[in-house]
Order: sequence, then structure tokens, then C-alpha cells
Amino acid sequence: MTDPSDTRDTGPRVGTPLWAFLAGVIAIGCTALVVAMLRLDLADLLELARGPLFWVLAVLVILGELRPVMVSSASAVGGTYPSTMFTFAVLLHFGLPVAVLMQAVGVAMNGVVTRRAWHRVMFNIGQSTLALTAATVVLGLFGIVPSPAEPWVPKGSDLLAIALAGVAYFATRAALVCGAVALHERRSIVRVLKATVGPQSLVYTALLGLAPVVVVVMNHSPGLVPLFVAPLLAVYFTATLSMRRDHQALHDELTGLPNRKMLIVSTEEALAESRHDERVGLFLLDLDRFKEVNDTMGHPVGDRLLQMVAHRLTHSVRPGDVVARLGGDEFAVLLPSIRDAHAAREVAARLRAALTEPVRLEGMTFDLDASVGIALYPDHAPDFELLLQRADVAMYLAKEGRTGVELYQPDKDRNSPERLNLLGDLRRAVDNGELKLHYQPKVALTNGTVHGVEALLRWRHPVLGPIAPSEFIPLAEQSYLMRQLTEYVIEAALGQADRWWHAGLRVPISVNISARDLLGSALPEQLEAGLTKFGLPPEAIQLEVTERILMGDQAYTHETIKALAALGISLALDDFGTGYSSLIRLQRLAVSEVKIDSSFVRRIAESQDDDRIVRSIVDLVRSLGLRSVAEGVESDEVAMRLADMGCDLGQGWLFCEAMPSADATVWLREHFDATPGAGVNYRTEVTQTA
Ligand code: C2E
Ligand code: MG
Ligand code: MG
Repeated sequence: MTDPSDTRDTGPRVGTPLWAFLAGVIAIGCTALVVAMLRLDLADLLELARGPLFWVLAVLVILGELRPVMVSSASAVGGTYPSTMFTFAVLLHFGLPVAVLMQAVGVAMNGVVTRRAWHRVMFNIGQSTLALTAATVVLGLFGIVPSPAEPWVPKGSDLLAIALAGVAYFATRAALVCGAVALHERRSIVRVLKATVGPQSLVYTALLGLAPVVVVVMNHSPGLVPLFVAPLLAVYFTATLSMRRDHQALHDELTGLPNRKMLIVSTEEALAESRHDERVGLFLLDLDRFKEVNDTMGHPVGDRLLQMVAHRLTHSVRPGDVVARLGGDEFAVLLPSIRDAHAAREVAARLRAALTEPVRLEGMTFDLDASVGIALYPDHAPDFELLLQRADVAMYLAKEGRTGVELYQPDKDRNSPERLNLLGDLRRAVDNGELKLHYQPKVALTNGTVHGVEALLRWRHPVLGPIAPSEFIPLAEQSYLMRQLTEYVIEAALGQADRWWHAGLRVPISVNISARDLLGSALPEQLEAGLTKFGLPPEAIQLEVTERILMGDQAYTHETIKALAALGISLALDDFGTGYSSLIRLQRLAVSEVKIDSSFVRRIAESQDDDRIVRSIVDLVRSLGLRSVAEGVESDEVAMRLADMGCDLGQGWLFCEAMPSADATVWLREHFDATPGAGVNYRTEVTQTA
């Protein structure tokens, strides 16, 4: 069962409900233990200890107490000790006193070995004694009273008695342990029971179900009993494996903290459980000077710092509160029950205080600080997504104003209700498949061969009709939805690449990505998995990143860009000319293509003079050995002048608008196959870069 004080080893404060509960269980359990001991005839015990069976069982009980079988559900992880099988067998065969004695010794020895706090050891002795006692009472009702002098060997007809005894045993343990967990984490016991009983009962059925078989075997030949270790190990390893897999899916690798997925589950649970006189608090916490550390000290130090931050945060909150890492240096803290805004601010201040304590690493001292945004349920938002969004707004206010902690304030939220509604619609659109990718070709300005297609998102709103990406992408970029959106776009683009590449239409598909996508390792991981799944080369996908992102906060994006380069995925610098980057810095960026923003291209059409800007961009891009692409080419004249300047590719309505995938396939077939040399040209290019 789950350990009620897993998170910390200091005992509960005297006088608290948890303290009273643990003290009660310990007192009653130990009384039951003493009463059982009094009923044990010492002569009988000594007689028993003379045979090998007693020692075989004792060793198995003690060994079985060392490592719990872990089972997990999304919200609770708990262990069941394999010793259960043998103590229950001892109970059936020799009766309660011998069983509780062995169990108590096993738990105590386990406590010494693992250096558990004494209150945990005592509680475990108490609760397991009470569970064994409950099973004994049930057996007694059936007239079954085993003792060392008269050991009992069950028969097929005793199945009902044994089953009911097993149920009593399990129910007692579940109630006591879940009660302690509920008090410890301040959750409702029903919820805790719901989350743990399912997976636990499976393991208990396996362990308790084998107990009568153990009895029959040991009655037949004690030497065979150790054979039961084999099925036990099987249960142990399967359960541990599945738990590890669940754990990985729900936790951040670097810090071991819950990830976003787990945070969603926990938050939804907290919202469902919350009482009307309390609030649920969601904090978004962003480190203030992390970038400097990463820049000056390198990533290994940055990683260790993040681990340290994770440690400090988890030790600054109460049990039951959830500290999660969302990516990069962004953390979230969930407080499932908090009195009011004032109390929430206090917790936030405590978290910041824990972080500002100077950190010594590699002989240097770092001063960290964080900005915390707070959103409360039900005051500020009705669900997880909006809570996070609003904590995000508050966090930016805290950053901007350098105030450290900010509570969400609706009047300072630049997201109007309409925008938020649209954001909500967009979230549903992702799930309902209202979003589609359209494809626009990039063609060589000299001979019209196809060199790639850009995937552009299209959204047809069920009520509002088509909505332009320029309306919804910036909206999504301000929220956590962006990552989901990009995930969707990448998946769709990979699926399309699979169809085209395996039909001989080997054109790279360019996907636009946003700043948030470059935080964390999700993007390279998804691309690597996708390319492998479809058996595609990295040349099948290209990423378009705007200048603003690539030039901006490089510390955040550095790692992801390195990972993408290692995969062999090329980057295009999108909307070039709209940012502030100097052309010289281009050299240091890991891009292979520069897309000249359509605003410059448009000016070529308007006036002869503006040729010079585009011409100098094209020259520089070529001198760096990169490819230039002109965006928004709408007329033959512009295309010709661009070709004269030496611009490599063009994209625009002159050639083709963005088309749905079926039309794009037809278009590609015509232009790819009909242009002699198109495929050849392209293929030689692939073999060169591959
Ligand atoms: P972008 O990446 O610069 O995409 C080029 C935009 O120019 C597209 O607008 C395209 O439809 C438009 N365009 C193409 N040819 C012409 C032309 O001849 N004349 C004119 N005036 N425009 C032309 P769109 O599809 O509305 O996308 C706008 C922006 O939205 C994109 O700019 C890109 O930054 C963003 N976006 C679109 N899809 C996605 C996506 O899947 N993910 C992300 N992160 N951003 C996207
Ligand atoms: Mg683009
Ligand atoms: Mg562009």
C-alpha cells in the first residue's frame, strides 16, 4: 500500500488529524499485537522453531518485506510487500500469533535496513497486525482456529472462508493506509481509495490467492516452499516494469518531477475534489536569471541547477501539492486546496525565498530568482487550460514589473474574452480535426522545378468560417496550445511526406514552428520517432523558424537546434528582413535557407529603387553558401527580376496558392514528372546533402 509519509520522514505535527490517526492505529495495532502474543504458548513456539519450516517462512517474510511490488495509477503510486503471501500462509497454518510476530519482525528489520522513521515502522506494524486480526476474526466465524499445536491445512471446501478472510485483510489495509494518505495529502479518502484500490487489489489477489497453496505445499514438503519465490519475482518484475513505464510517461526525465500530462491529471482531480470554501491554486514559475547561468557555465551546470531548483521547490510545499516541470526553466505548482489569495501569495513567497538562497556549483555562487504567476480556481478560471493561461498572464506581469509574485488580474489581461473564446475553440478544433494542412510549392526561379512545399495551417471554424493563421497562430503562441498545435502539424506533415516520398514525389515539406516549440526536447523527439516510423530520410522535413526566434533568446533554443542538426533536419530562416538581425549574424546560425519576407518582394514590384535591398540580401545569402527563397511572388515581372538577381527559389501566387493535399498531389505529379530533370536535379541534391 502507499506509504503515508513517503515524501518526508519527519513525523506529523502533534495534535494534527494525521497525527491522531497514526497514533490511534499504532495504539490499537500494538494492543492487538500484545494480546496475540499473550495467547502464544512459548513452548509451542520453541517447538515450531526447531523445525526448518518456521525458519524458511521467517526468511521469506523478512526478504519479502525488503522491496515492495510497485503498482501505479496516474495519481498514486503505492507498494505492496510480497511478504503478504507468506504471512497470510502462516496465519492460515499456524494462526494469528505466529503470523503477527513474523510480520512485526519483518517490518522492523525492513525499517532498520531502509532507515525509516520510527513512526512509519510502527504504523506499518500496527496496520498489518490489524489486517491479520480482521482475517482471523473471519476465519473464526467459520470455526477455523489454527495454532502451532494444531496447524490448519485448507481444503477445497474452505475456499469461501479463505476468500472472505482475504477480503477482510485487504479491506483493513486499504482503509487504514488510504486514510493516512488522505489525511497526509489533504484529499478525500474516497478519491484516494478510487485511485489506489484498483491496481492494488490485483496484486493482493495474486499474493493472497497463492497463500493457501503455500500452506498445502508446506504441509506436504517444506523444502518446496522457496519455489514460490519464482511466481513472486514474476509479479514483482511485471509490476515494476509497468510502473516504470507509467512513471516515464508522466515525469520529466531531468528532474524526475511530474510533467505537464501528470499536472493535467492532478489538476483535474483537484478541481473535481475541491470544496466550496477553498480554492485550487495553480502557479507558473519561471526562473529569472537561468539564461545567464546556462550561457556562462554551459548546459551540464544548467541541468544541475534545474535539478536543484526542483529539489528546493518540492521541499517548500506541503504534501499533496504538486510541483511539475513544464519545460525549459518553467515550473508549475499545484495547490489542491488553499484558503484564499493571501495564503496563495504566502506560498509563492516561500517558494521564491527557497530559490533565492544562493547556490554553490563548480566553485561558483549563483543567485537565482523566479517570477511566479498565480491563478485560482474558481475565481479566475474554470479549467486547467485556462488556469494555466491565466497563471501565464500573471507570471508575465510579475516579470515585467519585477514584482516577483503576481495574482491574476482580469483588468490587466490583454486577452479579451473573444480572444479567449477563440482560443477555446482552437483547442477543440485540434481535437475535432477542423485544422488541415495546405501545401504551397517552392520553385526554382530559373526553370520552374519544384524544390519543396511549405505546409500552411488552415482552420475552418464551424461557425465563423475560415480563420487566417495570422489570427490564430499568434493567439496560440501565447498559450500552451502552441506545442499541441505544432505536434499536430508535424504529425500531419510526416504522414503526407510518407505518402509522397513513397510514391516517388520526393519533395521536402517545410513546417513552420514557433518559439515555444524550441523549448525542451519534445520537437526533436517527435521528429526522430516520426522519421523512423515512416522510414523517411531527414531531408523529407524542413523547419521554418522566424528570424526573431532564432536571433532572440539563444540559450533557450540552443539545445533543441543542436538536436535538430544532429538529426540532419535543415532549418530555414523565415520572414527574413522583418527582424533586427544583422546580416553578419546569419553566418553563425545553423540555417541552410533564407526566406526573404514578402514585404521586400512586394516593394520590387512597386519601385525600381528597392531592388537594392533584396539584391544585397540575395548576394550575401549566396556568399554564405545558403539558398535564398523569395516569398510572395505574385507576378512574372517580379519573378524575372528576382531570377536576374540570382535568387534561387520563389514561392507565391504566381506559381500556386497553398492547396489541400489532394490538389497538391496532382500539382506535384504534373510538375515533378513533367519537368525533365526536376526529379534528377532534386535527387542529386539529396544525395549530396545526405
Ligand atoms: P509564412 O510562413 O511566412 O507563410 C507564408 C505566407 O504567405 C502564407 O500565409 C501564405 O499563404 C502567404 N502567401 C503565399 N504566397 C503569397 C503571395 O503570392 N502573396 C501573398 N500576399 N501572400 C502569399 P498564411 O498561410 O496565411 O500564413 C501566415 C503565417 O502563419 C505564416 O507565414 C506562418 O508564420 C504562420 N503559420 C502558418 N501555418 C503555420 C503552422 O503550421 N505553424 C506555425 N507555427 N505557423 C504557421
Ligand atoms: Mg513559413
Ligand atoms: Mg514567411
